[in-house]
Amino acid sequence: MLPVRAIRRFTVRPVLPEKLSQLSDLALNLRWSWSPETQDVFAALDPEVWRASGHDPVKTLGAVSPARLDELARDKRFVKRLQLAHADLEDYLGSDRWFQKQVKGRGRQGGDQDLPRAIAYFSSEYGITSVLPQYSGGLGILAGDHLKTASDLGIPLIGVGLLYQMGYFRQSLSREGWQQESYPVLDPDGLPIVPLREADGAQATVEIAVPGDHPMVARVWIAHVGRVPLLLLDTDTEENPQHLREVTDRLYGGTTEHRLQQELLLGIGGVRAVRAYCRLTDHPAPEVFHCNEGHAGFLGVERIRELTVAEGGPGLDLDTALEVTRAGSVFTTHTPVPAGIDRFPRQLVEQYFGGQGAAPGVPVDRILALGAEDYQGGDPGVFNMAVMGFRLAQRANGVSQLHGEVSRGMFNGLWPAFDEAEVPITSITNGVHAPTWVGREVFELADQHGDDVWAAVDKVSGKDLWATKRVLRDQLIDDARRRLRASWLERGAAPAELGWIDGALDPDVLTIGFARRVPSYKRLTLMLRDPARLKRLLLDPERPVQLVIAGKSHPADDGGKQLIQQIVRFADDPEVRHRIAFLPNYDIAMAQPLYPGCDVWLNNPLRPYEACGTSGMKAALNGGLNLSILDGWWDEWYDGSNGWAIPSADDGSGAGAELDNGRRDDLEAGALYDLLEKDVAPRFYDVDADGVPLRWIEMVRHTLKSLGPKVLSTRMLQEYVEKLYSPSAVASRALNDSFDGARELAGWKSRVRHGWGEVRVDHVESGGLPDVPEIGASLEVHAFVSLGGLDPADVQVQVVHGRVGADDSLTDATTTPLVLGESYEGGRHRFDGHVPLSRAGSFGYTVRVLPHHADLASPAELGLVALA
Ligand SMILES: *Cc1c(COP(=O)(O)O)cnc(C)c1O
Repeated sequence: MLPVRAIRRFTVRPVLPEKLSQLSDLALNLRWSWSPETQDVFAALDPEVWRASGHDPVKTLGAVSPARLDELARDKRFVKRLQLAHADLEDYLGSDRWFQKQVKGRGRQGGDQDLPRAIAYFSSEYGITSVLPQYSGGLGILAGDHLKTASDLGIPLIGVGLLYQMGYFRQSLSREGWQQESYPVLDPDGLPIVPLREADGAQATVEIAVPGDHPMVARVWIAHVGRVPLLLLDTDTEENPQHLREVTDRLYGGTTEHRLQQELLLGIGGVRAVRAYCRLTDHPAPEVFHCNEGHAGFLGVERIRELTVAEGGPGLDLDTALEVTRAGSVFTTHTPVPAGIDRFPRQLVEQYFGGQGAAPGVPVDRILALGAEDYQGGDPGVFNMAVMGFRLAQRANGVSQLHGEVSRGMFNGLWPAFDEAEVPITSITNGVHAPTWVGREVFELADQHGDDVWAAVDKVSGKDLWATKRVLRDQLIDDARRRLRASWLERGAAPAELGWIDGALDPDVLTIGFARRVPSYKRLTLMLRDPARLKRLLLDPERPVQLVIAGKSHPADDGGKQLIQQIVRFADDPEVRHRIAFLPNYDIAMAQPLYPGCDVWLNNPLRPYEACGTSGMKAALNGGLNLSILDGWWDEWYDGSNGWAIPSADDGSGAGAELDNGRRDDLEAGALYDLLEKDVAPRFYDVDADGVPLRWIEMVRHTLKSLGPKVLSTRMLQEYVEKLYSPSAVASRALNDSFDGARELAGWKSRVRHGWGEVRVDHVESGGLPDVPEIGASLEVHAFVSLGGLDPADVQVQVVHGRVGADDSLTDATTTPLVLGESYEGGRHRFDGHVPLSRAGSFGYTVRVLPHHADLASPAELGLVALA
């Protein structure tokens, strides 16, 4: 018989006994996802239901029997415990945290003015908990950690995203090891979200005009992430025709047009949702808009519309509105892989913004210009979301130092007159949310010594540390066996064939984790380069290693699926299957026991394509040692003894550039096997009389101490506040106060752009040096420049000086500004100054003129320069 399927589904929320009503508050604030004590309360309702729900409070409340709820309502101890958990949440939501202390501390010194009143953070995906599966990988996990950490620190942030009906897919395997995808349908009523309500109780909606005769309507939901509201938009409402209901059907699905519709909704609908939220809750308006990757870039277009043509707006001209928008915008780029950049056919964008389109009144040619690849090597037919991101944000960053550098090279075309090093893209290295990713047992061990994990490191005995690691390994293995069994049953195995799974993986064997999405640059199968050698490592009688592997391939990426199949086939071999396991459906629920349970975290991307990577940070916080190519964050913080660097053909010198990828993989895989065999395994198995590997423990301690404080997302958020949000808030406020500043800046930019053709360095005189210059001497420089109609105050004249190479190119250059000495007729001026010679060796210099204005965030902002 065919299964009978429901044509519609909804979730009936339980009526809780009065004494248990606080459970509903606990379930509807996602803070439970990083509060083990709150999870304990839900587990106590009914441990079996809690487990079967996948640790989902809303589902658990819906499934516990009314009789059990009545029983608990009469249980004084349980009620007491519930009250404590609830009081703890209230305290968390109401107390002063880092940000409030900053405001007060600076207020006393009169400096609180520079902190933002509110920030809106836009991202296409959020990985907060596995019960809200609205993420595909690292970008979403980072966004989730960003919100949780903003909440912990009390940063006034509002998150904005989409609510996908199906979220990302669930991965399983066919008998042959081929990835299968399924898309469980999510019912908003069964999720930990609530509607944003208008004063009359109706759910708030936003509308966007799209081609056709019906606007796109989206409902606004709120997920409470601790103190941070996350606004989620979905179009699955009866007010939409079918094709528009499907706009938020799934994450990164469908056609190019489908993706554009999603991005319109996120950017433009997102700003409209923020306005509705602020109106309905009396929340201060955001001063800073942070675009996490390019998907939400249209938010800047909506803000320009608000400032120019929107009813009730200030009615600014476009250039002034652009300056106001830029001042309050931050853009974070996340990928050094050119194919990872989001681009649309220009024509499609034109179709959606033309006429009375998505941003009526904003001229479509101005919108098209924002995303135009009008630089060398660009494609004139394309609208590039990252390019628009940079043009609409006065401040931009990459997500590790190396990625900042790579991004400056990659987007140099937008500032062609400047050296890579001067491209105005800074970097803030990602971090991870410890309360989400650090095993409870690790916190408990530190708690016994009354300290932070990394401060307690030296107080915990090696034996205790090792015993905890054994517990964590054991838990991972339990979870892995459960997943293996379920996977094999799905693949069609009979239960009687699966006895071997009880002995799969061993809690006393060196355990290596490798889990990530499967784009080709991550090289899932590098370890299979020499299968015989890998087999020997796994089966070594004295010093075996075991591998736990997981990862999803994008549904449209057959190449990725083939890599997964290769790993699965290798791991299916009865000879090695007790030492290597591929676990399907990598997600947050799998990741949480995985990081703590691993001794070594392996990462072997093709350098420099890993923008940052965060999984190794999570492993490190749990006392795992990283074994990784020097890419992303590891390039920055590997210190020679907090893990291992796999030698890479790309060491930054360009030396490996001529190697083809096959040869490069051979070299790097060989280096990986060598490290495992000669360094990692011997150290792990070198134990004292109590069975404790002292040299290993020493490295674990060093990892925790050297990386612990750095890899935290609290460090990351504090950097965002100091380096980007606060300066952006200050700039935004200055331009918003009366808009006079913005008008002045827009007028100044236009005047400087028009007048720049006449700016030149006429000649340079120097002197003041002895015949044989020594360190400590100083070079006197006089630069004669023509500024045409511009004023000396409109520019800065600089000496650029540094080492000089054979072709006269300057390296390690620094700049020294010159001051106006004298002005002559005809717009000519002399600028003077001194350059101290502070380094021995070859020395060269030149003179240049740059635009100068107090409201510029970088001298490269206009892309203009005049060189001698
Ligand atoms: C941390 C994490 C990621 C991202 O890891 P990378 O190192 O950036 O690849 C992806 N998925 C899950 C479930 C994670 O927990």
